Amino acid sequence: MTYSYTQIAQYTRCPRSYRYRYLDGWREKETRASLLFGRCFEKALAAFFLREDSTAVLFKEWEAYRDTPLDYSHGDDWERMVRQGVQLLERFGQDNRIRVRQPRHNLQIKRVRPLGNGNEFVAYLDAVGTLDGQQCLLEWKTTTARYPEEPAGLLALDPQLICYSWITGISEVAVVAFVRKKVPEIQYLKATISEEQRQEFGSLVDSTVSQIEAGQFLSHSGIRFPQNGCVSCAHLGLCLGNTSLVESKLIRQPGASDLDWLDMVDD
Ligand code: SF4
Repeated sequence: MTYSYTQIAQYTRCPRSYRYRYLDGWREKETRASLLFGRCFEKALAAFFLREDSTAVLFKEWEAYRDTPLDYSHGDDWERMVRQGVQLLERFGQDNRIRVRQPRHNLQIKRVRPLGNGNEFVAYLDAVGTLDGQQCLLEWKTTTARYPEEPAGLLALDPQLICYSWITGISEVAVVAFVRKKVPEIQYLKATISEEQRQEFGSLVDSTVSQIEAGQFLSHSGIRFPQNGCVSCAHLGLCLGNTSLVESKLIRQPGASDLDWLDMVDD
């Protein structure tokens, strides 16, 4: 069995949701414009480091969705998103703070770590390069809201960064957040992950895999205001027995767990 950060995160959030997705094959329909735009933008970033025309790549990739009925939020529309994307790519080039040497090797890097019982853990890292001259692991994020920067050190608690630090052994990590707002902004956020955090994440993976293999899928519903995880859960329709909600949000793909490593490209 191959595990990924997405799987561990989904199980720790709600084991029932994990079962729906990875065992029963109920996957969320991919109609969120922000998610699809993020993938297009990452392809444009790859083109930037390969010294290709990143703006042209963004247009070409995003063009595929121009006439697709997508779920747009925060007042977004197709035109507005591509305009913001172009502004962010220009700003990124002007900032000139990130370097990725040998981009064909140091972008979208696959890392595999063996677990017990013949299982393995796979991760796809966005990049390894330098930020302001310092070597680090790099994660790109496209978002409509700034990442919180206070209190100091908050980013070091990001479980995805800890996961990637664990699988690579690299302590220095950074998130480059491309913030799509009225005046687009790029945040360059650094953090240092400790050896203790890496070891703890390894223990979390081991214990999560043990619970999955033991067939423990109790629901962790979160119906209390304001942290209501069920409201944003794609599987809410299944828990409520609401057929129309299921049909609007989900598509069933039996055997989906075999394809999970592909999800890492989206994270
Ligand atoms: S709706 Fe709530 S209880 Fe049901 S799977 Fe989602 S998070 Fe879990």
